[in-house]
Amino acid sequence: MLSKSKITRGLQCQKSLWLYKNQPELRYISDQQQAIFDSGANVGLLAQHKFPNGADATKGHNWPNFQCADNTRNLISSGQQIIYEATFVFNKVLVAVDILVRNEDGCWDAYEVKSTNGVKKPHIVDTAIQYFVMTGCGIKLRSVSIMHFNKEYVRMGPLDINNLFVATEITEEVLVWQEQMPHIVQDLEAIQSQSKCPEVEIGNQCSEPYGCDFRNHCWKAICLTSAISALI
Ligand code: SF4
Repeated sequence: MLSKSKITRGLQCQKSLWLYKNQPELRYISDQQQAIFDSGANVGLLAQHKFPNGADATKGHNWPNFQCADNTRNLISSGQQIIYEATFVFNKVLVAVDILVRNEDGCWDAYEVKSTNGVKKPHIVDTAIQYFVMTGCGIKLRSVSIMHFNKEYVRMGPLDINNLFVATEITEEVLVWQEQMPHIVQDLEAIQSQSKCPEVEIGNQCSEPYGCDFRNHCWKAICLTSAISALI
């Protein structure tokens, strides 16, 4: 089984994906990284106020799972107009979309919330994975957008959520990824299930686009070698 975060991890480094599945105890998450995750979750909750009165498909669960996917199906068939953390499973990939909004004609707009001032390249990949899974589940998507901070917003008095966030549509960019998505999923599923850890040299991928949480493990050998070289 893959998820959006596992696919983005695997696209950054196959070794990282394998370690995450097979040796997760080697991960190290600094307090700073944890604070970034926590702040991202809080921003996601704040952005829900831009589309009020939605139903949370993950209510009662710590993270999206198969039960949340069942909840999402039930919410859609019961006519719910706005769904938070809408969860879908297709082709052995599970994703949760921050905000899903139904239109008058029955198709949907999806919003992925990011705590940035604009759209970044990794956001396109994130959303392309979600698009692949959602459309695979039969959801008719009209648009997909990144909801990010409005850099023009200046707070004057109480927080104005409608002005704090702005949505940038990225449907066309996301469509470009769709043809290759089944191959990406198939390859990464095979990599995480293989018995041997892929051999990957350390490099730029250890910090771009995201800091890898296996750096302590992979870089340890390099640091040790450098220390020994310095002694001889
Ligand atoms: S530290 Fe670098 S080489 Fe090691 S798993 Fe992470 S990205 Fe891959």
